[in-house]
Amino acid sequence: MSTYFPLSHDELVSLTKQFSTPFYLYDENAIRKNMRAFTKSFSMFPVFREHFAVKALPNPYILKILADEGCGTDCSSLAELVLSKTAGITGEHVIFTSNETPASEYRYAHECGAIINLDDITHIDFLKNALAGKLPDTLCFRYNPGPLKAGGNAIIGKPEEAKYGLTREQLFLAYERCKQEGVKKLGLHTMVASNELNPDFFIDTARILFDLCVELKKKLGIKIAFVDLGGGIGIPYTADQTAVDLDYVARGIKKLYDEKIVPNDLSPLGIYWECGRPITGPYGWLVTKAIHEKRIYRNYIGVDACMADLMRPGMYGAYHEITVSGKEHAPKDCVYDVVGSLCENCDKFAVQRKLPKIDIGDILLIHDAGAHGRSMGFNYNGKLRCGEVLLRSDGSFKEIRRRETLDDYFATLDMEGVQSFR
Ligand SMILES: *Cc1c(COP(=O)(O)O)cnc(C)c1O
Repeated sequence: MSTYFPLSHDELVSLTKQFSTPFYLYDENAIRKNMRAFTKSFSMFPVFREHFAVKALPNPYILKILADEGCGTDCSSLAELVLSKTAGITGEHVIFTSNETPASEYRYAHECGAIINLDDITHIDFLKNALAGKLPDTLCFRYNPGPLKAGGNAIIGKPEEAKYGLTREQLFLAYERCKQEGVKKLGLHTMVASNELNPDFFIDTARILFDLCVELKKKLGIKIAFVDLGGGIGIPYTADQTAVDLDYVARGIKKLYDEKIVPNDLSPLGIYWECGRPITGPYGWLVTKAIHEKRIYRNYIGVDACMADLMRPGMYGAYHEITVSGKEHAPKDCVYDVVGSLCENCDKFAVQRKLPKIDIGDILLIHDAGAHGRSMGFNYNGKLRCGEVLLRSDGSFKEIRRRETLDDYFATLDMEGVQSFR
């Protein structure tokens, strides 16, 4: 958990005069520094790339900043491919890891030159048909180790119950087929956890993939060009959690690389990640204002943001640290449920949380909201999602997404035509 915030109370108060609450704030400088540290941790590998998971923070300004730091993207839909292209990220800097994908999206991904990561063995023919009978020169497959890999968690579930990827047997058949079809470059992907904090989990994932690379070489004579270790690196949302030590993870994976990949003539093997959360998560905040206080069986603080702006607490019971601007050092001697305005009782940013005494008009910061925050938002109850503000490295502010308006909400409805409808 991080209570880091880049602005002083006075700076924040003046920002809320320029942009009314609620809004998301992202810190460019911190995101850049964090991305550099991530890359540095894995710099011992001959070929390394992080493909930022666009779904975590789908804003082209953020993608451009990350591209500037050497990132590619991981996309899973047409819109994410378009965002990626808008930010100037194309070709093999894009991995298209989707599932239940329409043919049109495969075609678009192929036109962008993206690496297509197939989720099932039947998708080889599906893709071939979508691309007028010719597979791309590069292909990747998503492996689901099923019960072979212990783990999984509340967000992604157990691998054997997850809908993603190919079984071990299918994987061998799929690569053999690709070899026959003349696919030139092959990758291997897996993602079996989400928001995982145990660093050994990722080393173990690399071990599974490296062993498969060796086996594919021995059994089929196939030299895998890259492994994609997926996303799933967690961030500490609570005070008792600690961030994943990426240097430790990199060292552990490098040891396996030297043991398994190098002696089997598989080096250079590309090492790719497709992380979202650990890249931007700690450097985004939902800024909201206390607008109501009610005292019934519990004490409630009603804020101007709601679950439509940030659904993680309501959906997973996820914890997000909350601080009250200007009261960082005040005693936490009140207990509140901090709630939004949806007609759903799970619309609570905090439940029975110890906080300083909150007054109407106080500005609350909901921390660690820089990934899977605004992007998971929705319009239930006719809620209009909030905008996004970027704190630039030079200290200036830029609105990188305006808040939604009623016109946006009504855009897909025929508000005029219905007048004469009977
Ligand atoms: C969600 C997802 C990611 C990113 O996950 P983070 O937890 O944000 O790192 C990467 N790859 C795939 C396939 C995903 O579904």
